[in-house]
Amino acid sequence: MTHHDVIVIGGGQAGLAIGYHLAQQGRRFTILEAADGPAAAWRGRWDSLRLFTPVRHDSLPGLAFPGDPDHYPTRDEVVAYLTEYTRHFALPVEYDSRVTAVRREGEGYVVELEDRTYRADQVVIATGPFQAPRVPEIAERLSGDVVQLHSTDYRTPDSIPAGPVLVVGGGNTGFQIAEELAGSHEVHLSVGSRQMPLPQRILGRDIFSFLVATGLMRKTVDSRIGRRMKDRDSLIGSTPRAARRRGIQLHGRTTEADSSTVRFEDGSSLVVTTVIWATGFRLDHAWIDAPIFDSQGAVVHQRGVTESPGLYFLGLPWQHTRGSALLGWVKDDAAYVAGTLVSRS
Ligand SMILES: Cc1cc2nc3c(=O)[nH]c(=O)nc-3n(C[C@H](O)[C@H](O)[C@H](O)COP(=O)(O)OP(=O)(O)OC[C@H]3O[C@@H](n4cnc5c(N)ncnc54)[C@H](O)[C@@H]3O)c2cc1C
Repeated sequence: MTHHDVIVIGGGQAGLAIGYHLAQQGRRFTILEAADGPAAAWRGRWDSLRLFTPVRHDSLPGLAFPGDPDHYPTRDEVVAYLTEYTRHFALPVEYDSRVTAVRREGEGYVVELEDRTYRADQVVIATGPFQAPRVPEIAERLSGDVVQLHSTDYRTPDSIPAGPVLVVGGGNTGFQIAEELAGSHEVHLSVGSRQMPLPQRILGRDIFSFLVATGLMRKTVDSRIGRRMKDRDSLIGSTPRAARRRGIQLHGRTTEADSSTVRFEDGSSLVVTTVIWATGFRLDHAWIDAPIFDSQGAVVHQRGVTESPGLYFLGLPWQHTRGSALLGWVKDDAAYVAGTLVSRS
């Protein structure tokens, strides 16, 4: 059984950021990645995706994201950057390596994969803030004639059949997919709970530069304002009014479905050809066997450090601040976890 000082599970931006620090510390470590290549989560997102964070706020530790600081990178530019990041620092990523179980044994951890088992003194879980697609139960009541997909499976407008499309979910993903489809389809957008719209730019400055300058990106999850921000997600660069101007028909929460008809909270209904569920994700940590979960199954931690000695998380939504699950800020939590790893080793 191979033994490592540290095993990182997940080779996305969070896994790479902690990998950078482990390499600097000269640790014996490996990064186990389920997918067959780098930037798997980004490769799985829709073709026209553009970041809402400009280049100046997209760098991982030690290597600047290339390009004009005010440019909003495409999905493929992020894939290229993460691929280059892995190569540049020669990070030891093992692909096609899905971890099926982690459990505490003795002073360390046993990490199981389908075909092999490793031991590690310390483990960092960096499996992402968006894991298992969440689809409401009413989806089962739609007939087989209705094309249904989760936003993770949406790629391009021409892959969506002609006819009315309902996008369910009023977050950034729902709005952006609806806006793209409005160029070619009759589009309806169902918004269950309204998110606070923020312009992409304020007085010529990017919203994130503004949030940095006002100190809001430093607000931690345990501060009063941090708790309020966490409970109310923001919609960046889209608004219901602009969506209407593009011809998107807005509806309230989707409450019922029957055959090819969906019903909304105000009692109105719509016959649909396609439904795209932009209804988010849930975390899936069922494969971790350690006493670190509360009664709701949420990870109990302080800035990623759990009560189980040597077991850490990185990249959780609001792990510490609004930026914890964002490209340009994950480095702060990575540096913190790396520092804690040293003190405990
Ligand atoms: C539509 C969308 C747009 C976004 N836009 C922006 C943006 O503009 N700017 C920004 O900063 N952030 C953005 N984000 C947020 C965030 O940057 C991304 O979600 C990012 O992918 C998170 O990186 P991560 O490394 O934490 O997780 P992921 O990128 O999800 O990486 C986790 C990795 O872990 C692997 N994995 C999972 N389970 C296992 C296992 N059991 N064993 C081994 N490997 C495993 C996965 O294959 C994956 O490669 C966006 C997110 C979404 C969904």
